[in-house]
Amino acid sequence: MIEGLLEVLQRLGVRDLIEITIIAVLIYQFLLLIKGTRGWQMTLGIISLAMLYYITRFLELRTVEWLLANLFTYFVFAVIVIFQSEIRRGLAKLGRGRIFDRFVHHKQRNILEEVVLAATTLSSQKTGGLIVLEREIGLRNYVESGIRLDAYMTYDLLVTVFNPSSPLHDGSVIIQGDRVSAAACFLPLTLDPYLSKELGTRHRAAIGITEETDAVAVVVSEETGNISAVVEGEINRNLDGPRLLRFLADVMESEVESQKPRESKSRSKREAGEAA
Ligand code: ATP
Ligand code: MG
Repeated sequence: MIEGLLEVLQRLGVRDLIEITIIAVLIYQFLLLIKGTRGWQMTLGIISLAMLYYITRFLELRTVEWLLANLFTYFVFAVIVIFQSEIRRGLAKLGRGRIFDRFVHHKQRNILEEVVLAATTLSSQKTGGLIVLEREIGLRNYVESGIRLDAYMTYDLLVTVFNPSSPLHDGSVIIQGDRVSAAACFLPLTLDPYLSKELGTRHRAAIGITEETDAVAVVVSEETGNISAVVEGEINRNLDGPRLLRFLADVMESEVESQKPRESKSRSKREAGEAA
């Protein structure tokens, strides 16, 4: 047994080591990407089906084996559909340079501060607002559903847009980089049946867009003045200014370190829970 292992190790070339390392890194990155998302349960489901397949082969249950073998052919397509947002995020991450990230960092912080200031102002006036910040996945489709602005992003502009007497106040503002690309944009509503009934269409639209893309959404409730932030379909409610800024900074900076948003997400959720 040990001799056999040694023999295998001796035959192992540099090329094999490189291949093993690359595959290990790919699998690890994939697991990191889907950890804590809907994809996670689906991966477990797929693994269970694969195990069932080998068990039926072992027990020679021909009909079930035939059924599973045929299902697996379609599975490839199902997996692409199910994991499309993970695949998109993963590929976008591959294509991004880190040096550039640092360069943008400072500028981004100012933008986040303007968003937070606008959100707290809207909250104190009990004016409803919905602000979506683009990350890696482009939001052009949604920008085109609204009214183009392409204006430099400032706090005054956001507050003005959401003023109930403004024709642009209905719908969402979309921010791409340091520009307010459009206002009055129509976003997809989440279909999640388990959401609290307190959350109406504005909140459902904020959750919907973060399920479809990797964008971050900030919602100010017209009814309560509460501020919420949403990323990856998870809503963090009852945030105040400093917490919102910390949340946004964590999520935006986590584009450098992909693990951060999840930790911060649970942290802000806990905090939000305490505040509630
Ligand atoms: P609030 O707490 O502010 O009342 P809510 O979650 O209860 O928010 P509604 O009261 O239904 O939601 O808010 C309606 C507003 O939400 C609309 O006037 C519109 O501005 C916005 N809204 C509704 N649907 C969408 C959508 N699909 N995309 C973008 N904005 C939307
Ligand atoms: Mg409402």
